Amino acid sequence: MKFSELGLTQDLLTAIEKHGYVEATPIQEKTIPLTMAGKDVIGQAQTGTGKTAAFGLPILEMIDNDNKDVQALVVSPTRELAIQTQEELFKLGRDKHVRVQAVFGGADIRRQINGLNHGAHIVVGTPGRLIDHIRRGTINLSHVKTLVLDEADEMLNMGFLEDIESILKAVPDERQTLLFSATMPAAIKRIGVQFMTNPEHIQIAAKELTTDLVDQYYVRVRDFEKFDVLTRILDVQQPQLAIMFGRTKRRVDELTRGLELRGFNAAGIHGDLTQQKRTQVLKQFKNGEIRILVATDVAARGLDVSGVDYVYNFDIPQDSESYVHRIGRTGRAGAHGTSVTFISNAEMDYLKDIEKLTKKRMQPLKPYTHEEALAGRMSVAAASVDAIVKTTANVADSELVDQLAEKYDARELAAALLGSAANVEEMDAEFKLSHERPLPHKHGGNGGRRGGGNRGRRDGDRRHGNGGGYRGNRGQRERRSYDRGSRTGSGDRSQRGHSGAPRRQSRNFVIKNND
Ligand code: ADP
Ligand code: MG
Repeated sequence: MKFSELGLTQDLLTAIEKHGYVEATPIQEKTIPLTMAGKDVIGQAQTGTGKTAAFGLPILEMIDNDNKDVQALVVSPTRELAIQTQEELFKLGRDKHVRVQAVFGGADIRRQINGLNHGAHIVVGTPGRLIDHIRRGTINLSHVKTLVLDEADEMLNMGFLEDIESILKAVPDERQTLLFSATMPAAIKRIGVQFMTNPEHIQIAAKELTTDLVDQYYVRVRDFEKFDVLTRILDVQQPQLAIMFGRTKRRVDELTRGLELRGFNAAGIHGDLTQQKRTQVLKQFKNGEIRILVATDVAARGLDVSGVDYVYNFDIPQDSESYVHRIGRTGRAGAHGTSVTFISNAEMDYLKDIEKLTKKRMQPLKPYTHEEALAGRMSVAAASVDAIVKTTANVADSELVDQLAEKYDARELAAALLGSAANVEEMDAEFKLSHERPLPHKHGGNGGRRGGGNRGRRDGDRRHGNGGGYRGNRGQRERRSYDRGSRTGSGDRSQRGHSGAPRRQSRNFVIKNND
């Protein structure tokens, strides 16, 4: 369906066209008219199918430019997603001159206050920083007409629910409420519905949660060989842009080190890094300066980076919804992707629970041999030799060239060049990961539901708050995010990490805390 059939005004249609959208996606087609009619909507559709514009366009349509009040509020689980959503709404609303302000932790609050003072029609924010602004009286949400919880099931999950309840107190009771996500467990939906008025639940492609565009594989591994299996897979698959998930911050740091050691262009992102660093890494990844983004679940929700062709779950996620969101970082907007999930014997129940939720079988992938990995590396090296030959200026002293040509035959020279380009020694660089405590055994499985509430808030929005803000009793509240496991369970690190490793490497086993 064309956007022009959805009742949007010309300013927005022009912006949509500039954005390169031709047809509305199914979720957009279904939810835009309902939202414009003022209904409360739960919009559920697969990852990468345009949910941002699904709630963004009708909101932009409904904004009254002459009114300086904050008229819509979008709440996002991570800072990166808040930034991305702000950017998308800004672009789509530019012709209509809609002001969109992002507020999130780890960034200068005074600039955000300035932006708010200048009159923001739409605010996109993370819960913690929004609450800071509410407490400081630097945001007025009393005229909000539409409230969106993006990644709604995450926002209504235990780690965030209390924050959302505080935010709800700051917006009018009489308002429109929109929940959007690819996943919507029934128990969480029941919580959400309490904050809504006669919501319509629009669910696209209810049959399968994950997109058909992603080929899903799993690989069975034993813990000690996991890293070797990984780098062989990378040598064979040669991803253009990949996101790799590790269970803890420590894991992410170590994986990044190990990958660099074996010649891969990788960088890590997690909640212990400064926001400046997080933003920089993500920017480099979007530019293609970094090819492998190693991340905790902080990168699992909502991030839209075009060209991501592989997702690696180096550690299987604890809950099945998280899997859906992680692999949803590829196969977006019609592109094709591949995911590979590493599974130990003890984790087979988790695989089954994921398949139960996604209603799709993952295909087994046999670990590649050293020879296959080598062949992968060599073919890339051959291509780079081509590039060297084509692009290197011919400035060599002819006598030296003659000498070399006399000394070696063409085959020898070619082999040396290829070998150097392939950097084969790198492949076998000694590297050992610290032992990561495996996920607890599942007995009978409970459908992958989050048991016992051991998922606290995500990477704290407030961790790096720049002071003075509201702390309330939050400081005491334990944040039990799985992501934070890096602080513990490292007792056996020194033994395992150093065995036979060169000195350069042993330094890598210090837990980094970039605060
Ligand atoms: P979701 O929130 O469903 O995961 P996003 O809103 O992040 O998906 O959109 C995924 C990608 O699809 C983005 O790059 C977005 O610009 C693009 N997109 C959104 N709507 C359309 C459309 N109608 N046609 C083409 N591309 C679209
Ligand atoms: Mg989204």
